[in-house]
Amino acid sequence: MKKIVIASHNQGKIDEIKPHLLMLGYEVYGLDDFGIDPVEETGRTLKENAILKARHTARLSNFMILADDSGLEVDALGGKPGVFSSRYSLEGTDEANNLYLLDKMSDKLNRTARFRTVMVLKDEQGYEYVFEGVLHGYIHTALEGDKGFGYDPLFIPVGHHETLGVLGPRIKDEISHRKKCLDKVIHHLKNTL
Ligand code: IMP
Repeated sequence: MKKIVIASHNQGKIDEIKPHLLMLGYEVYGLDDFGIDPVEETGRTLKENAILKARHTARLSNFMILADDSGLEVDALGGKPGVFSSRYSLEGTDEANNLYLLDKMSDKLNRTARFRTVMVLKDEQGYEYVFEGVLHGYIHTALEGDKGFGYDPLFIPVGHHETLGVLGPRIKDEISHRKKCLDKVIHHLKNTL
């Protein structure tokens, strides 16, 4: 049976990705199964960070690796917080990051933004494939909704009138940047099995 490691300690992320890989017949592992420490995310882009994670994990296992990195890009802030999304404010909690972003956006008329996910698949031969998924939307003027995580209470996806924090996981899972990216990975794996 083919084996694949999801290069993450985040159980929520692993739970989201794992069923799709199981359906393709993969034996699925996370970093905790190998006792691999997380690598420092020193990349300047989401892609660089995803590659860092994939290569770090590949040094310690011979299996196929799937690594990812995501972030929020706000046009009026020149694409920030981007690669620094999880550590945008000093405290670095979801709540502090959201309040910091609201403050930065207080005088901004253009509120367009997008979530982006980059995934890197590194196969047993060492070949690396890069995939991307994007969810376009707007930064709301106040926090709304308590579902989800990160910037979900501030992000209104295009075609909707409420934040992801209000819309909740059922709708989010259909439209999210992560889902779109994962669909591309699954499509690739199906075609290379
Ligand atoms: P990660 O690479 O998936 O861990 O995402 C990095 C950071 O980007 C998170 O800590 C969040 O601040 C933000 N982020 C990524 N995806 C989402 C999302 O779907 N909703 C809200 N925030 C997100």
